Amino acid sequence: MKPSDPAYWMLSDGVTTTPTVYNKGCYICNDPEFAQMGLPLCYACIVCGAHVPADDIICDNNHIQPTDPWEEFEIRKEYGLKISDELRKSVEEKE
Ligand SMILES: [Zn+2]
Ligand SMILES: [Zn+2]
Repeated sequence: MKPSDPAYWMLSDGVTTTPTVYNKGCYICNDPEFAQMGLPLCYACIVCGAHVPADDIICDNNHIQPTDPWEEFEIRKEYGLKISDELRKSVEEKE
């Protein structure tokens, strides 16, 4: 399966930093200089695994990505996603 296949992300475990997403209409995905310069690349949505532009926080299916552990906790709760002990701890420590 090629990384550009829409189902490719399912091979990974769906964690946020998997750089396997690709959108042919996305200027970041189509510019190899971003990777060469070590800039942030597009990533997979934590809810559905779809492409999220590196300079945005909304996936191609309009899910908003968390920008801090609190938001991630809330989003994971809302969509019934797995909440890691690590995430739970970092949220509880803030309370
Ligand atoms: Zn992209
Ligand atoms: Zn999504």
